[in-house]
Amino acid sequence: MNPKTKIVCLITFDYELFLGRNFGPPDTILFEPTRKILDICDQVNVPTTFFADVCSVWAHRNNGCDSYADAFEKQLQEIVSTGHDVGLHIHPHWLFTTFVGGQWQISTERMYLHELGFGTHDHSAEETVRKGVNYLNELLGKQDTQYRCTAFRAAGLALQPQEKEIVRVLLDCGIRVDSSVAKNLRLNMDTVTIDYSRTPKNANWFLSPETGIENGNRSGIFEVPVATFQMGFLERTGFMARRIRSAGKLRGSVISRSPKQSRLTSLYSLLLLNLRYLFWNPYYLLSCDTKGMTLDLLLKGFDSYLQLHDDEVMYVSMINHPKLMFDEQVQLLGDFVRETRQRYGSEVSFQTFRQVAADCDCTQDLLKSSEISTNATRNNLEVYEGAL
Ligand SMILES: [Zn+2]
Repeated sequence: MNPKTKIVCLITFDYELFLGRNFGPPDTILFEPTRKILDICDQVNVPTTFFADVCSVWAHRNNGCDSYADAFEKQLQEIVSTGHDVGLHIHPHWLFTTFVGGQWQISTERMYLHELGFGTHDHSAEETVRKGVNYLNELLGKQDTQYRCTAFRAAGLALQPQEKEIVRVLLDCGIRVDSSVAKNLRLNMDTVTIDYSRTPKNANWFLSPETGIENGNRSGIFEVPVATFQMGFLERTGFMARRIRSAGKLRGSVISRSPKQSRLTSLYSLLLLNLRYLFWNPYYLLSCDTKGMTLDLLLKGFDSYLQLHDDEVMYVSMINHPKLMFDEQVQLLGDFVRETRQRYGSEVSFQTFRQVAADCDCTQDLLKSSEISTNATRNNLEVYEGAL
């Protein structure tokens, strides 16, 4: 790491319900954990960004579930009024999901942006992103007239496939900063396939409709990747042991492409996920909500990610999900912020995506090269729980 490096850390949350079955009411799964997160952020005085799953609120509203929609909107307004930021997160399956006899009948044919298709038809990727940006601008503009939705995170971190088309849509709709890429992350599940093993060496770069995500470009959407890191074998063994001990702590289940979201398909996906932790040497995401993670592992992983980069200013994000956070994970978040400040002092600052978007033009001259990383390993598979 360049000794002069300034580290800008962006703490983020994907603000959403489980995509499969939810084992309790939305208050238990989303709103109460978010209240606890906002409390700890207030205690350690750190601004954060929540990526709101707007399709879920539209689905609830359209199906007469107004209490969820009202609570969702009220909490987002509170988030903005207390100095945090809100970005756009889209899980398109909600657009086609119906509420029958008190149960959500989940549609799993169109789960990612590219599956909506590009064009002007109903529920196209363009229409949905534009509707999402306008929805957040209208909802949150009432709270803060300066609010603009300029940040995006893809469902399951999947900007691929068809990344050039997706980037064009995002740019056209006013998105200026993205946080979907996680260097070296590869997913190959029945729900999602992504491969981020070839990305620029720089900590940050611009995505564009011409170059997609692999090549650096001088303008476009500024990418703030989620930090990733690997662990040694012994660390992985301890991680797995702690994971097994916390296995019962779940508020919902993962989604599969199967039309029926049975307990069996969820168990199968969970089993696959854990086997990969054990038998591969995967890339872990910088996140407080991965069961089995400890403060030491997070700090070591964060530092190893910083050491890989030589940029004078590094923007790096941490991904979390309120639905996966219990008291222990909320505490871990507070400890991570305190300890990071202790270790890096004035070199580190915590910002929102809104602040980064405002600085975006100034960051262009910092992007020196667009070299493609050649040291990416091809045999690493990671499974990201939020995607499932
Ligand atoms: Zn999500």
